[in-house]
Amino acid sequence: MIQLGFPWIFDNQKLYCWQRFIKLFYPHLKDVEELESFYFELLNSLVHRIEKQNPKRAIIEAYVKLCEHEGRLHTDYHCLLCEEKIVQEIALVRSLVPIHPKCSYSKGFKKNKVDKLFREKSTLGLNDSEIEQLWNILLQGL
Ligand SMILES: [Zn+2]
Repeated sequence: MIQLGFPWIFDNQKLYCWQRFIKLFYPHLKDVEELESFYFELLNSLVHRIEKQNPKRAIIEAYVKLCEHEGRLHTDYHCLLCEEKIVQEIALVRSLVPIHPKCSYSKGFKKNKVDKLFREKSTLGLNDSEIEQLWNILLQGL
């Protein structure tokens, strides 16, 4: 379906991350009636970003763009469970939906870090263990 060149095809870590993401991506697109150019451009630009950037960071940034494009990026930060506003720490569940750490019994992120990620589509403010945490949320499904 999509023809892309992979300059990093022999880099195992990059290839592994890409394959994990694509495995989630294709079933996600099954429900999309007509494939918009957005998705092709997103993947195409991701291939190039993976060449230069840490693959998990590049994929997380692309994923935030995907959620925003599909109108399901929650930037008003109300808790999925109790519906109260989230003031300090934000935990994220599948599809990056915000929830209180205490409501989800999971580890939270500093709110300003999530906000920067969501608004700027940049993982610059996040450390490697936070990237790992986001990566595991992403693997739960798009
Ligand atoms: Zn809550």
